[in-house]
Amino acid sequence: MNVLVLNSGSSSLKFQVIATDLDRINRHQDERICRGEVERIGGEAIVTFQPGAEPRRKFTAPLRDISVALDYLVRYIASDKSGVSQIRSSADIHAVGHRVVHGGEMFSESALIDGKVLQGIEDCIDLAPLHNPNNIKGIVAARELFGKDIPQVAVFDTAFHHSVPEQAYLYAVPYHLYRRHRIRRYGFHGTSHRYVAFRYRALRELTREQTNIIALHLGNGCSAAAIRQGNSVDTSMGMTPLEGLVMGTRSGDLDPAIVNLIATKEGMSPSEVDMLLNTQSGLLGISGLTNDMRLLQSELKENADRRVQLAIAVFCYRARKYIGAFLAAMGGADAVIFTGGIGENSPEIRARICEDMEWAGLMIDPARNQQTIGQEGLISSDDSRLLAYAIPTDEELLIARDTVRVILGQPHPS
Ligand code: ADP
Repeated sequence: MNVLVLNSGSSSLKFQVIATDLDRINRHQDERICRGEVERIGGEAIVTFQPGAEPRRKFTAPLRDISVALDYLVRYIASDKSGVSQIRSSADIHAVGHRVVHGGEMFSESALIDGKVLQGIEDCIDLAPLHNPNNIKGIVAARELFGKDIPQVAVFDTAFHHSVPEQAYLYAVPYHLYRRHRIRRYGFHGTSHRYVAFRYRALRELTREQTNIIALHLGNGCSAAAIRQGNSVDTSMGMTPLEGLVMGTRSGDLDPAIVNLIATKEGMSPSEVDMLLNTQSGLLGISGLTNDMRLLQSELKENADRRVQLAIAVFCYRARKYIGAFLAAMGGADAVIFTGGIGENSPEIRARICEDMEWAGLMIDPARNQQTIGQEGLISSDDSRLLAYAIPTDEELLIARDTVRVILGQPHPS
């Protein structure tokens, strides 16, 4: 089955076409047919396209909205220009899997999209006003293009965290606010945390019940998940993706009184402060330079800039603090998993985060750590009681596999 995986944002559309079915899943022989991204939709859009393992190419096209972008994209993939032999027309796409950011309390697993599910995603717009409307646009665009009969599946960022217990998801605010506005922790990056948990147990040949790990997804957005017996029991992101770890442009945890203080002192509205905490804070806010960890690290090496030093120090300290907190929350773990652009590619940051963790039995092996860049591998030393791994995430693969399983009515394996 050729599954088109879509992640639709406000002005971007990330896509992959993956050939998979139950047999391929069992044999780990899913095939990546093509992938890419359309950015700056709404004007002269930039398309990045990569067929199979060939080099990426970039070109532009005037694309008014997501529907037009999707139509253009599928025509391009099916054309001779694309270099994709498996897709000759839109009929060669057999299903669509969508990344949907917020599934609220309603969706604990991926769902076949029908009128009721679409309504459920709409009902969660209040919880993710910046994300869910774009995800819906992607679903509607796919329905217009492929017709009603093609199965579409929603895979939610929040679903994996449904197992988080009340004591971890409730905020200590008046309870009626939870009832009235569903104010609680939901958590995000669920597909990524689920994928690395699945890879960890494949690597160690463990069962789901034997999976006791702390997963650190460190990309532009960053989050930690405490996974006990295969289930998420706590996570650092909250009602929105702003809470928790320090991120590229997001502050993560802070004293909530600061919001009012900034608003008063700087003459800003609450939503302007919200914007500041989401887009001007984190690594960018402290360094005053960039949200890009790679640039910060090279700047540190070349110029030893003090604010760059501080940004990296606060980032690593916060991550270490969460490892400690989650070890307590879950009564100990067997491994810490690093994933996301930073977690997969930066041995320096992984080592910094794990510094002085010998008390918890966590010791990084410098050579293994240095060798494991952009690939799966153990990075802790042989005498480390708490293991550490780097595992590249693959949310698109999980979305494609979920899409197949949901369509075939197969139970959730992870
Ligand atoms: P997103 O969360 O948007 O999917 P990614 O997972 O791609 O983002 O992570 C982006 C982050 O990963 C950026 O801060 C980038 O600088 C960082 N990154 C990528 N490669 C490296 C590297 N080799 N060293 C340090 N940081 C890296």
